[in-house]
Amino acid sequence: SSWWSNVEPAAKDPILGVTEAFLADQSPDKVNVGVGAYRDDNGKPVVLECVREAERRIAGNQNMEYLPMGGSLKFIEETLKLAYGGNSEFIKDRRIAAVQALSGTGACRLFADFQRRFQPDSQIYIPVPTWSNHHNIWRDAQVPQRTFHYYHPESKGLDFASLIDDVKNAPNGSFFLLHACAHNPTGVDPSEEQWKEISYQFKVKNHFAFFDMAYQGFASGDPEKDAKAIRIFLDDGHLIGCAQSYAKNMGLYGQRIGCLSILCEDELQAVAVKSQLQQIARPMYSNPPVHGALVVSTILGDPELKNLWLQEVKVMADRIIGMRTALRESLEKLGSTLPWEHITNQIGMFCFSGMTPQQVDRLTSEFHIYMTRNGRISMAGVTTGNVGYLANAIHEVTK
Ligand code: PLP
Repeated sequence: SSWWSNVEPAAKDPILGVTEAFLADQSPDKVNVGVGAYRDDNGKPVVLECVREAERRIAGNQNMEYLPMGGSLKFIEETLKLAYGGNSEFIKDRRIAAVQALSGTGACRLFADFQRRFQPDSQIYIPVPTWSNHHNIWRDAQVPQRTFHYYHPESKGLDFASLIDDVKNAPNGSFFLLHACAHNPTGVDPSEEQWKEISYQFKVKNHFAFFDMAYQGFASGDPEKDAKAIRIFLDDGHLIGCAQSYAKNMGLYGQRIGCLSILCEDELQAVAVKSQLQQIARPMYSNPPVHGALVVSTILGDPELKNLWLQEVKVMADRIIGMRTALRESLEKLGSTLPWEHITNQIGMFCFSGMTPQQVDRLTSEFHIYMTRNGRISMAGVTTGNVGYLANAIHEVTK
């Protein structure tokens, strides 16, 4: 027997496993609405024009030196403006401890490790449902998990009353994971009024809000609007944490570029917190990669390129919104008697369709349509060319 004879194959990741199965399927009809990556109306991956231009400007001027342990300062400065606001007093007062992270996942993981290290008795409250990797992240960081109500299966909307109850019933000073916008997998976000109420109740209970913001710009098409929940919490005086990612809104998936920030009481505390975040990063990956940071800071640091980016984010968001309407209308035209308003009510990249695992299995086996078994459709994979086929298949399995 070898050193590793005790090693069993790991369970397949519920999201990445879908892509593997899709790639192995030889059918010309196959459709991938599993993974949350944007596609154009021909189903092709997109490199944004602002990214192409930034790369042209960078080319040849870039050395391959290490970044500082906490990442590129210019990148961090521009990134904080997006979340906290261009004129944020917290940025001016240097009260935000922020480090470049390995995209949104890395930012969440860094925070979870930090939480474990400096609030060792704390837990994390996670919405039901959530992005499946949240569970893995806080599990591996050894932070115990609790859940709070979020989605209401009957209405396919927010279970606001139960959410507020859970916030009230959690022990004072609990940690909560909130999706800043475009909740994954449900596509259901609280309204502005509801966010204000959530923020108020957090204040009463002295809870800590950690915002995972993986889709800024993808909900409304405007990154500024999509930061609304965070701004409400900031206005109410919360000291928040925030994970940002450029995977989706700049299409920089494989560059692994994101940011973790923690708003502190003052600059002194922010310096201490940042130094500890770096301390956690050092034995894991030493310092973060340089290319994505340079692309992002080149775009956001140039008014013209930033404008181009804002236009391109809006094009992506609008195409998805258009496909929601097309999918719903196709189902209604086919004579489906089920309610499908939630397809257009939900926002962001995903539609939480309400289909059962058995119905999803039939979509895959009979129609070569690939998605996660929780019924989540990645609207980014829906195109003018496949929406009719998809609607017909959904209609057949939900009759
Ligand atoms: N958080 C949520 C809710 C997500 O849906 C994702 C990606 O699917 C991420 C974080 C992290 O993505 P990445 O690590 O590619 O930035």
